[in-house]
Amino acid sequence: MKPARPIYLDHAATTPTDPRVVEAMLPYFAEIYGNPSSAHSFGRKAEGAIETARERLAQLLNCSRTEIVFTSCGTESDNMALRGVAMQALSMGKRAHIFTTQAEHHAVSHTAEQLARLNLARLTWLTPEADGSLTPQTLETALSGLTPEEVGLVSVMYANNEIGTIQPIAALAEVAHAHGALFHTDSVQAAGQLSLDVQALGVDMLALSAHKFYGPKGVGLLYMRRGVSLFSAQTGGSQENSHRAGTHNVPLIVGMARALELAYEDLPVRVANYTRLRDRLIDGVLDSVEGAQLTGAEKGRRLPNHASFAFKGIEANALLMHLDLSGIAASSGSACNTGNPKPSDVLLSVGLAPDLALGSLRLTVGRQTTDDDISYVLTTLPTAVERLRAVRLAHHL
Ligand code: PLP
Repeated sequence: MKPARPIYLDHAATTPTDPRVVEAMLPYFAEIYGNPSSAHSFGRKAEGAIETARERLAQLLNCSRTEIVFTSCGTESDNMALRGVAMQALSMGKRAHIFTTQAEHHAVSHTAEQLARLNLARLTWLTPEADGSLTPQTLETALSGLTPEEVGLVSVMYANNEIGTIQPIAALAEVAHAHGALFHTDSVQAAGQLSLDVQALGVDMLALSAHKFYGPKGVGLLYMRRGVSLFSAQTGGSQENSHRAGTHNVPLIVGMARALELAYEDLPVRVANYTRLRDRLIDGVLDSVEGAQLTGAEKGRRLPNHASFAFKGIEANALLMHLDLSGIAASSGSACNTGNPKPSDVLLSVGLAPDLALGSLRLTVGRQTTDDDISYVLTTLPTAVERLRAVRLAHHL
């Protein structure tokens, strides 16, 4: 029977804003509304809120408050890192050489591609393994192509949004540094599930987006290790140490800090619960859907909340529609690509055949997901796949 409320299993696309986060943000819309750049008491109050948020985020990331730049989202943070390094290199009469994979989010891969197309940077694609992971050896070999005239930049995501694979960031960053290259990681999916200690990770830049960890949409940050020089992506006022001009969005920044604080409060318990629910999904789907394939890494090396599959003989959009009508909100991979029947770049980059890649499904659990939700999915999904396969077969007869 269809559940009383729709079951949301698309937490990799976005999460609901935690009511405690909303509560923290509320005073900064109409009560404490000053412009943080203003010199009077209204401005100072707003500036105080931003600096408290920055201090808290710096503690959680284990960095200095001066190493945090507030942005409008994860996409902007990624763009700032790649474009900032490329433009900085050009301003010094050099050229950036970007090393990245086609399994990255388009915020990175399309940015790298565009910079290369416009001849603003050189680009080397790194080939991930079949489970989506990038080995330090692959990076080591590629970096031997870095010339002394180039500024090297490696960009590898912490955890993949479509297939959940967690990358060995600390080991990769070490290889990059041994070759004198900078290391950026898109940590948008990792936040709220994995440690974001930038010292332990050894990264130079790290991108976050609040709406993936029960914070508001439209706010993110870029951690920039002291000493990293980025050409300013956005010029204007001197906000964010002139790295990112534009009046601060005070409520959203306050909300992001509160959301990350809350994410750390119950991290081990929540991750254990996610892992248990995810494993029920993975085992249940592989057992009950004929020919189902798990995409991405095995359980121990994938995001705790992330299950992703490929089904032969299925068109993902038809399956998503079927599930939606049955009260299950899922995704075929990246939310940005929903409605686009092209096989995903990520799935192709890990070697999936295009027809199999078209039949992808991503289920990501969250704080509100229950065992009953998983049981319902496990009874609904196999029937849906069977029906769609039968329809397709009938069309081919
Ligand atoms: N990077 C990854 C890995 C993502 O999953 C997303 C969003 O789906 C982004 C970047 C973009 O973040 P935002 O939605 O904040 O622009």
